[in-house]
Amino acid sequence: MRLSQMLFVTLRDDPAEAEIPSHKLLVRAGYIRRIGSGIYAYLPLMWRVLQKVSQIVREEMNAAGAQETLLPQLQPSELWKESGRWDTYTKAEGIMFALVDRQERELGLGPTHEEVITSIARDLIRSYRQLPVNLYQIQTKFRDEIRPRFGLMRGREFIMKDAYSFNLDEDCLKKTYQAMDQAYKNIFRRCGLAFRAVEADSGAIGGSASQEFMVLAEAGEDEVLYTDDGKYAANVEKAVSLPLEVEKSPFTTYEKRETPNTNTIEKLCQFLKCSPTVVVKNVLYEVIYDNGITVLVLIHIRGDQDVNEVKLQNELTRLASVYQAKTILALQVPDESAQKKWATKPLPLGYIAPDLSDDYIKSSSDYAPQFLRFVDQTVIDLKDFVTGANETGYHVVGANWGKDFHLSDLKVDFRKAKIGDRAIHDPSQTLKSARGIEVGHIFQLGIKYSKAMGATYTNEQGEEVPLVMGCYGIGVSRLAQSAVEQSYDKDGIIWPVAIAPYQVIVVIPNLKDSEQVTVAEQLYQELNQAGIETLLDDRNERPGVKFKDGDLIGIPYRIVTGRSLKEGKVEVVERSTQKSQEITISEVVETLK
Ligand code: ATP
Ligand code: MG
Ligand code: MG
Ligand code: MG
Repeated sequence: MRLSQMLFVTLRDDPAEAEIPSHKLLVRAGYIRRIGSGIYAYLPLMWRVLQKVSQIVREEMNAAGAQETLLPQLQPSELWKESGRWDTYTKAEGIMFALVDRQERELGLGPTHEEVITSIARDLIRSYRQLPVNLYQIQTKFRDEIRPRFGLMRGREFIMKDAYSFNLDEDCLKKTYQAMDQAYKNIFRRCGLAFRAVEADSGAIGGSASQEFMVLAEAGEDEVLYTDDGKYAANVEKAVSLPLEVEKSPFTTYEKRETPNTNTIEKLCQFLKCSPTVVVKNVLYEVIYDNGITVLVLIHIRGDQDVNEVKLQNELTRLASVYQAKTILALQVPDESAQKKWATKPLPLGYIAPDLSDDYIKSSSDYAPQFLRFVDQTVIDLKDFVTGANETGYHVVGANWGKDFHLSDLKVDFRKAKIGDRAIHDPSQTLKSARGIEVGHIFQLGIKYSKAMGATYTNEQGEEVPLVMGCYGIGVSRLAQSAVEQSYDKDGIIWPVAIAPYQVIVVIPNLKDSEQVTVAEQLYQELNQAGIETLLDDRNERPGVKFKDGDLIGIPYRIVTGRSLKEGKVEVVERSTQKSQEITISEVVETLK
């Protein structure tokens, strides 16, 4: 490609909207343009990078036996109602863009594709002979993120590779999962990323085991806890969540829109084994925000009892839909004996409470207004459900510190977090923490979707059993930007060679010098013919401008047809090291191959 013919515009200044280096650089270097909040155009250079990444993904997925497909982005609500996710995705969590067509039918714009793929499997997979099978696609996803930011890192429209496997049983699923784990490691390695695989929380997708792939970078929105011996690494979302058994909830008979009453509250108290009087007095404070209702629940906890956090979490989710609330904030208020018990430790609810100094809560009712003020000032668009922790550790189930909240002004250090009972962490090892960018996530889903949607097959014994599923995602557009976040200098981007939009840029310093032009044109052709993707900077610009732009856009090698032509040589500069060599013209192609 000739730069003179390309839509090539670089900016001198950092764009005002960009906070992190990779975002600034991609905008400045003309890779992306912001169209709206979390919505970006991929300009020609970016599109080449995205296709490079996609191709690596494709090769590794195909090698692992997966088949490429393309599923619809418009998804009928019926499917999501079958899986039971329509309400949580369109209302409580609100991540899905929902719309109504001219026939008044509800549709969602695909944030993920479990429902669609499970409906296909339900129709087409009949027998164990067809299994296992793994389907993937590379496609735009839509998510109405709470806080779209950092360019492609958290878009509302972004490119994902998602794969879904259908397996005979748990063993068969584990094998596919292992194969995906390996494929993912190959992909990230080939893309030139420094990454870490960590244990993860399965979140709203559901399922049992799950693992994330984190690109280590300061700008990461996730926090990874790990030990130096390498035996433990987990997302903080997972690391501090306590694995507890889930019992049948006493609230399962509640209708969705039922008006809350004392009875509800009493049940909640019984359920949480806490004192009804205090809870009845304090349980509900409604705060109206411009985006809906926020309900604050104060829960009184006796010092001699622990709260089952998983159950609490579930009930809060339910309460949110009862109140049609966008947000539920739950605050555990320990009574005096509980306070004593916790006196020697940092208080567990620290990360959502304002000031945990000595005059901490005298009684829950004193504390409520203070907490509300805090909510007013600090929590702007918190949509996740937050609960405090019990004595075994702090926790952030369903909430990710630093990503879902702006709580940098709080005095709680997550590095002090303790690991839950059953985590594999060796307590004699100190936990370290690092920031990470989640570029991939693999899940063992099990039968959650196949059971809900009736996707079964006939096994070898002739029984009709649910398909056992796994799902595997890679944020293709996020990955591309992460590569920049890991690799840049003061002059611009330094692309890993494998995903650079072009490998070489040939620069003609002076267009009026016919020898410079001839040699450049010749090299440009030979390089392209040899399969080395090459740009030709034939613009009528000063050499300094050309060198600056070449560095900014991060092309791995720059060839300059300058002074050394006299000796039959050109200058070849490596972008990453800025090392320059003089190479004989006839040897250039061989050297760069
Ligand atoms: P996050 O925790 O960052 O919100 P997620 O856990 O919601 O991500 P998954 O549902 O696991 O994301 O989706 C698979 C992959 O898609 C993620 O690992 C990530 O790389 C990418 N991804 C998710 N949300 C976005 C987004 N808003 N913009 C760009 N990439 C995204
Ligand atoms: Mg998310
Ligand atoms: Mg995540
Ligand atoms: Mg994830």
